[in-house]
Amino acid sequence: MQNTKSLRSWFNEFKNINPFLIAGPCSAETEEQLLTTAHELKDSDVSVLRAGIWKPRTRPGNFEGVGAIGLKWLQKAKQETGLLTATEVANAHHVALALEHDVDILWIGARTTVSPFIVQELADAVKGTDKIILVKNPVNPDLALWLGAVERFYEAGITKLGVIHRGFSTYEKSKYRNNPEWQIPIELQNRFPDLPLFLDPSHIAGRRDIIQDLCQTALDLNYDGMMIETHPNPDAAWSDAEQQITPEALKELIANLVVRNTEGQTADYQNELKTFRNRIDRIDDQIIDLLANRMKIVDDIGEIKRENNVAILQVKRWNEILKRMTAAGVMNGVSEEFVLRVYKAIHQESIDHQKKVMGEK
Ligand code: PEP
Ligand code: MN
Repeated sequence: MQNTKSLRSWFNEFKNINPFLIAGPCSAETEEQLLTTAHELKDSDVSVLRAGIWKPRTRPGNFEGVGAIGLKWLQKAKQETGLLTATEVANAHHVALALEHDVDILWIGARTTVSPFIVQELADAVKGTDKIILVKNPVNPDLALWLGAVERFYEAGITKLGVIHRGFSTYEKSKYRNNPEWQIPIELQNRFPDLPLFLDPSHIAGRRDIIQDLCQTALDLNYDGMMIETHPNPDAAWSDAEQQITPEALKELIANLVVRNTEGQTADYQNELKTFRNRIDRIDDQIIDLLANRMKIVDDIGEIKRENNVAILQVKRWNEILKRMTAAGVMNGVSEEFVLRVYKAIHQESIDHQKKVMGEK
């Protein structure tokens, strides 16, 4: 993608973008449920009403969405409240129906983003329209796959683009339904700073009690907004009941968000920040110097291991290092887990160095 500056212009036209909020039920269930939600969100900072019309369920037999009739309810909600509307599309037929019912934002679900064939089908289907397309991350932690999907829309002439971070599935159980893996959206943000980035805390959390925290983290990481599942009676929801919150709870959540200033900061603050950042830069220089020095010694050890025909990996020594350094870390307020991660990476690089040295004759 080139000229990515233009990616942001659609977004800047909205009134409430600090943060931009999309809310509404996981699934449209009944006309009453959708209209009630819309009316309760009408006088809030929410700009867009979401509702799943076709639900991609991991296993068959669960509620699979009300289908096209729900688009009529979305249309009615828009007429009555002035909220824009958003729904998920997963094939060209969905796109045709969504266009027919004047849906403003089409999002691509996590199970769809994984498939370049379907993404291409969707890109072809929206070609020539001026719809806003939001691409959710694929279920697996693969930045290239995510970006590839965005690029297919861009190449189809769609410039009103954005991405939604909804977390990544893992086999191991954790406190999240889908692990955030913040480093992936952060890398995406570094590479395409003009591509609007939204958080879907509902599908990351899979539960209500950590949604507020996730939203705050997103704001602190400069996300542009959030899409939050909201239902008038969450416990009775036909899908994703555990993670939906009431419109009232959503308003409270919004009121509790701390929106950090990006402009209008004082000169004092800027100076102080600069001083701290300079210090960090110097420490980072030292870290690289020290690592390079360590690798030089590792190379020397490789030489003598080669001359004495000794194996590269010495488990006992490696365990001693880990023990000593994790203890030192804990003494200095650095977590054991972090020290282990760093030292595993250092050890791998050391092994690679020695392999090279020992391969040389
Ligand atoms: C949804 O937004 O309701 C949904 C199905 O999300 P995802 O594609 O992220 O699982
Ligand atoms: Mn859902």
